Amino acid sequence: MSAVAQARRARDAAREIVTSYRGPRLRIMEVCGTHTHEIFRLGLRALLPPGIELISGPGCPVCVTPVSFIDEACYLARECGVTLCTFGDLLRVPGTAGSLADARSQGARVEIVYTPLDAVAYAAAHPAEEVVFLSVGFETTTPASALAIKKAAAQALTNFSLLAANKTMDAAYLAMRDSCDAYLYPGHVCAITGARVPRALTSRGISGVVAGFTASELLTALAVILRRSSAAPFFVNCYPRVVTEEGSPAARQLLETYFTPVDAEWRGLGVLPQSGLVPAPAYAEFDARRRYTIPPQEGRTNPACRCGDILRGACTPADCPLYGKTCTPEHPVGACMVSREGTCAAWYQYRGTSAASSGKEDLHG
Ligand code: SF4
Repeated sequence: MSAVAQARRARDAAREIVTSYRGPRLRIMEVCGTHTHEIFRLGLRALLPPGIELISGPGCPVCVTPVSFIDEACYLARECGVTLCTFGDLLRVPGTAGSLADARSQGARVEIVYTPLDAVAYAAAHPAEEVVFLSVGFETTTPASALAIKKAAAQALTNFSLLAANKTMDAAYLAMRDSCDAYLYPGHVCAITGARVPRALTSRGISGVVAGFTASELLTALAVILRRSSAAPFFVNCYPRVVTEEGSPAARQLLETYFTPVDAEWRGLGVLPQSGLVPAPAYAEFDARRRYTIPPQEGRTNPACRCGDILRGACTPADCPLYGKTCTPEHPVGACMVSREGTCAAWYQYRGTSAASSGKEDLHG
């Protein structure tokens, strides 16, 4: 049998396990924005039997970044006259008194960059400007911010710093443990941390599997959860072609060298101990919060927005009175509608498609 035929047979077997499941009710939480999007795009929700609920948790870095961070960035741009360098998604996240896009339209200097190193290059090319990079992301993207600090230090740049809201996922796994029966752990994050991190959670009663991103990988991961759900707390690495037990020591070394853990606020989850990363003391000159005096920010959301509840798995976008009405991807009211990986944005993109039937050829081809 060819490798393609073998893979197809495995996928079909996994799909049969999923669709024929008639066991106890199960809540499965994905904590990866790419999983959220791919599950919709592939139409996997439409395959789930009654009693299996897929919950989108705090897996989108833009979504979990609190409003106060946007307010801090707006303060730096408006009151301190710095040039902000940011990924495009953050531009449209509403802050208490408007978004960064609003600030830019009012004259603030805000540059879109594609990598943290672009921000370093911008600072080097514009020595008369104070440049602050808005650094958000989980273990997958934070190493690139570490490289930015490394390069800025090597170039002895004195006009570059980071406003950091980077986060690590392990505290979120613990915080959300009562919201689900099993996790679909994020493949990209686990490629850095290693499978050992989620595996260790079984000793605390937390179950889950690491999943990849293809239809076959996601179906296999779901099938494993359904098969193992009645057993003791379990962990299975269903993405072994990318995730090793040890992960990436080189990436973790970058994080440990250039960042230090701090308590951090997550939208909807509150402050989680030691879940944030800011520039390490040895690189304090690259920490925007040390370089500038930023007063405490209000961090106020639209009171009708339910992003916090959605990120906790307590409701779905359909429960938000603004969903699809005043809140759309063109005019987002909350962070979950901004990024392509946000839960509200995914629901909106695949609305009216029977829980996203587009892409089903991936399951049947
Ligand atoms: S639909 Fe918009 S306002 Fe409602 S929870 Fe989602 S992002 Fe917030």
